[in-house]
Amino acid sequence: MAKTIRLFNNLVRSKENFIPQKAGEVLFYSCGPTTYDFLHVGNARALVVGDLFHRAFKALGYKVNFVRNFTDVDDKIIERANELGVDSLAHSSRFIDECLTDMNSLGMIPATHTPKVSETMNEIIEMIGSLIQKDKAYVEEGEVFFHVPGFSDYGKLSKKKLEELQHGKRVQVDQKKKNSSDFVLWKPAKEGEPSWDSPWGKGRPGWHIECSAMAKKFLGKTIDLHHGGVDLMFPHHENEIAQSECANECEFSKHWCHNEFLNFGHEKMSKSLGNVVTIRSFVESFGGEVLRHVLSSVHYRSKMDWSQEVIEKAIGEIERIHLFVETFTKTKQGDHPANQSHLEEVVSFLKRMEDELSDDFNVPGALSIFFSMIRMINREYFGVLKDGEDIILSSDLRQSIFKVVDFVKQSTGLVHENTSEVLQKIKMAKKTLSGVEALSEEEIEALIEERKNARVDKDWAKSDMIRDRLKDKGVILRDNPDGTVSWTFK
Ligand code: AMP
Ligand code: ZN
Repeated sequence: MAKTIRLFNNLVRSKENFIPQKAGEVLFYSCGPTTYDFLHVGNARALVVGDLFHRAFKALGYKVNFVRNFTDVDDKIIERANELGVDSLAHSSRFIDECLTDMNSLGMIPATHTPKVSETMNEIIEMIGSLIQKDKAYVEEGEVFFHVPGFSDYGKLSKKKLEELQHGKRVQVDQKKKNSSDFVLWKPAKEGEPSWDSPWGKGRPGWHIECSAMAKKFLGKTIDLHHGGVDLMFPHHENEIAQSECANECEFSKHWCHNEFLNFGHEKMSKSLGNVVTIRSFVESFGGEVLRHVLSSVHYRSKMDWSQEVIEKAIGEIERIHLFVETFTKTKQGDHPANQSHLEEVVSFLKRMEDELSDDFNVPGALSIFFSMIRMINREYFGVLKDGEDIILSSDLRQSIFKVVDFVKQSTGLVHENTSEVLQKIKMAKKTLSGVEALSEEEIEALIEERKNARVDKDWAKSDMIRDRLKDKGVILRDNPDGTVSWTFK
């Protein structure tokens, strides 16, 4: 049976039990990226948070129908394509592919549906038609507007009052609007822009309507959870609610969750401020595992700062996890019974991790419990052996540890499939971060071989000298219980 989850619902600004309409099944929508350029690590935060929710639901026993859209028809895309002299849909299609490459390097699991605006035009037009028919929207010279005063619940998510919004808009920007808060559902076609036929003439949709139409198409009229970055709460999500609730005449989403910003020097990382690090350039230097770990190490409702320290900390944690997994994989199963208190402790670690995840998706909380288990097992079992000695664990203890590792792998994506490859990447990430002129891998391996020979000859002085020389160059050696030597950058 699915575990009960407590979620901070922004509709009520407090934590409450997450009760899906159908027990054990979640209808989940997350606003995806606008694809006009390479995404930055701030965008990656929204993507990774959506993925963490998706994974946590599954790991806690829910079946999930998860929709994440691509905005492939938009002012920014058209503007960029026109600057480059290329077709706007071809341009957005190229950046959807680039985005998929980034998502893959971030270890994201696929959403159930990933609709594009250009492929949802019939549903969008149908929904706008129904809003006009219900007198919630009106047409002016080929342009369609949603009439905000016609929806009495407007502002229920952002807690903004319609009167205040109108008060703030002294300048009437668009003479065609009946009310300054009304927003566009359909824009008439302009030269050099993509357009589609509609009952109101050739044109293209406004931004907000796509999510209402896509959620209805793939999930139905009422969904269980809607997610996006905190900047989307107003006006985007408020407008989605207005459109969907007027068109469908029922509640749009039971729960609303928003991830906080990733900041750079106390400002939101954003293209318009020019303070961006792209996902692609970061991944090329440090690997997607490091970016995923950085973004998972802070609770989704807390602001986070992009800094050398958070990157360093993530690298250290990934290394600790995978050194543990590497040693665990080498352990052997023995017949002798487990130390009962250790076994109980490991079983309780799993339960505590599930509790953390089901408490408003507290991934950092679950991770800290995972580290408690790693510390305990390292201390009791992995750190007490002499060279070449096997580590024997009883089958029930081994099973229980495996369950914990597998839970972290499935629910957070922070344990990676290929341990030695990740450890290798981490070495390189450390090297990049330290920026020191380090020894090449061949030079390091040659010195390790030389030290090994010195040890066979019982030339301890030489062995120590080589170890110190490597240390001076930032290379730390680890003599493993099975007699092999691993190394890493400091
Ligand atoms: P955009 O392409 O700017 O509409 O952003 C796509 C998604 O990324 C939205 O969910 C935004 O809320 C999110 N986003 C953009 N910048 C940041 C940031 N600095 N921190 C967290 N999320 C962000
Ligand atoms: Zn949306």
